[in-house]
Amino acid sequence: MAEVVPAEERAEKLAVLAEQVHDCTVCRLAETRTNVVFGAGNPDADVIFIGEGPGQQEDEQGLPFVGRSGQLLEQLLGEIGLTREDVYIANVVKCRPPKNRDPRPDEIDACKGYLRTQLELIQPKVAVTLGNFSSKLLLRTDTGITRLRGNAYEWWGRLLVPTFHPAAALRGNPRVLAEMREDFQTIQAIIEGKLTRRPPEPAAEPGEPEPDPEQLDLFN
Ligand code: URA
Ligand code: SF4
Repeated sequence: MAEVVPAEERAEKLAVLAEQVHDCTVCRLAETRTNVVFGAGNPDADVIFIGEGPGQQEDEQGLPFVGRSGQLLEQLLGEIGLTREDVYIANVVKCRPPKNRDPRPDEIDACKGYLRTQLELIQPKVAVTLGNFSSKLLLRTDTGITRLRGNAYEWWGRLLVPTFHPAAALRGNPRVLAEMREDFQTIQAIIEGKLTRRPPEPAAEPGEPEPDPEQLDLFN
């Protein structure tokens, strides 16, 4: 079983990590960013949202999802009775890729340890991956978001709900927004305890100990 660490202690560790990442230069994105966008919100949140990487406004302000995508995210949160202060919001890479290009595999590799520690410290009930990058990374799949979404996946002892990136809905396809709303209903049901994960499958080899997720690498 995972060790039970009090919320205050986990919040303190998260603040220390944010301080450390503030001047990170581990990958080339450090050369072009204005601010590291570590993540923001409730350090003891039931739900964490994980985007791709900061855009221009996020880079300028050092905060996640403060541009148009963020406005839509806040609207969808409001529809299920939540504010951004209730949840935690983070990204796969903490620095803006130049001209909003896709983050490269080596940049994701360099940065993903920070996200892993965020997840370990926040211990959310549900992780919501926004779009292809975070969904494929956390679910370790090549399957695209259109096929992944619409389900809650068991994931390291909690649930993961992949949905579209708000930017996809902002491109104007009404079906994308409608399906995001469905996914947010799923998120709400999980938070309210109406949807829980199935009990673990019996081990294939009786007597074999289950691997302890905390001891393994969450992503690869
Ligand atoms: N898009 C993202 O993926 N993350 C942000 O923080 C903002 C826009
Ligand atoms: Fe460091 Fe991540 Fe920024 Fe790269 S993207 S410099 S690994 S914080």
